[in-house]
Amino acid sequence: MAETVTQFAARVLGIADCPPPKPKRGPQYATGTVCWLCGGDTEGKGWPQATAIAPTFTQHNTAKANDSDAVCQPCAALTQAATFQGLVKDRGLPIKIWTQAGWHSYSHFIRDDGYYSVPSRKDMRALLLDPPAGRWLLCINTTGQKHTIFRATVASSRSLFPVQMDETTIWCRADEIRQCMADFEALCALGFSKDSILSGQYHHAQLLKAGLSRWKPAEGRIAPWRQSHPDLMALVHFVALGPAEFEPIEAAEYERSAVPPQRQAQGQMEMF
Ligand SMILES: [Zn+2]
Repeated sequence: MAETVTQFAARVLGIADCPPPKPKRGPQYATGTVCWLCGGDTEGKGWPQATAIAPTFTQHNTAKANDSDAVCQPCAALTQAATFQGLVKDRGLPIKIWTQAGWHSYSHFIRDDGYYSVPSRKDMRALLLDPPAGRWLLCINTTGQKHTIFRATVASSRSLFPVQMDETTIWCRADEIRQCMADFEALCALGFSKDSILSGQYHHAQLLKAGLSRWKPAEGRIAPWRQSHPDLMALVHFVALGPAEFEPIEAAEYERSAVPPQRQAQGQMEMF
């Protein structure tokens, strides 16, 4: 049986060996051979579902094998706060931990060579613009309150790859995400907020400040992304550099720099 996404993640992170606790009486392992959560092989050593999955877990509709009583050890490892906190401690990762902190608390970048990080938005942006070779997972958790790994799909291509954003798996074409990011950030560079670019609802004052002649062609380039690729837009909106990260350019300054060079040259010419 093929390796599932949780089995991939737990294996490369070195946490796949996660046996259920020995009960006082009765069998340690569940009888089911298919994992209730990921649908993968339990190798006959799965956790009883009721032991692995807390009653607070509400995403029962995401379970791949509803009639199974077993949860595979990789899935069990990736639902438990203790394994997350153990990984953070063992690797000395600079991540804030509290009692409840677990896999649902952070975004994840996992590579098949075992590399793990909690990526910042800038890290995510860099990964999306220049994705790694090999197999990897980028799971973006925008609220810090959701499990993302078991919902994800393992990426294995630099030209077309899945990215998990909360509950949505977004398939990205490398050329499209680069173009969408460039078109989005062109508007940020004009001083527009990321939210206004996403919604298309611009503030009148900012339109005047940036200049309609500059806004109009830039909006013309982002509008098709907004209409036909809303998931990609949401992803770009989350990771793009905001207006504060660009040098503000006043409309008046822009008009001056748009003057044909021969007229500028009449004043003074700088030679390098
Ligand atoms: Zn599983």
